[in-house]
Amino acid sequence: MTRVLYPGSFDPITKGHMNIINQASDLFDEVVIAILKNPYKNNSLFTVEERMDMISNLYSRMNNIKVISSSRAAVDVALLHECKAIIRGLRSLSDYDYEVQLQQINKDMSNDRINTICLFADKEYQFISSSMVKEVMRLGKDLSKYVDPSIEKSMILKRKDIYDRF
Ligand code: ADP
Repeated sequence: MTRVLYPGSFDPITKGHMNIINQASDLFDEVVIAILKNPYKNNSLFTVEERMDMISNLYSRMNNIKVISSSRAAVDVALLHECKAIIRGLRSLSDYDYEVQLQQINKDMSNDRINTICLFADKEYQFISSSMVKEVMRLGKDLSKYVDPSIEKSMILKRKDIYDRF
């Protein structure tokens, strides 16, 4: 049984992430999506609990996809959940530089026990990022091409919530 970990912020999960998750779940027996809490990133749109609910609802009918959250290092989460490798998605050359460093530090921190496998999103999803999607939300534009309808709904509610507060 080959289980892999897909760690990230997922603030929010996009169709790019979902494309990577679909590919990983075709390739491996089980995919564990890990929402990692980063105390240095205080400007998140959704709380970790909200992200957990949103992503769990998306995959509630897929029994080979699990969702967890953690404030530990991705390698420690991978070892704890007996994952063979970490999955990361690659979009561009700028992602590549960062991901190379990340896989090296992860390999080092896990004493060579955790490797990273990079997957490429299909080309229609390659330009999508959570930060771009948040910008589209701020501008009040159509989000349906970039996120699942349930995520779009949560984003519209969140935008209303933010605007109502000001
Ligand atoms: P992080 O904050 O760790 O970069 P993200 O939630 O932004 O977490 O992304 C998690 C992973 O998914 C990263 O490997 C990122 O490169 C990848 N990813 C995000 N969007 C896309 C996309 N549109 N296509 C392919 N990979 C993606």
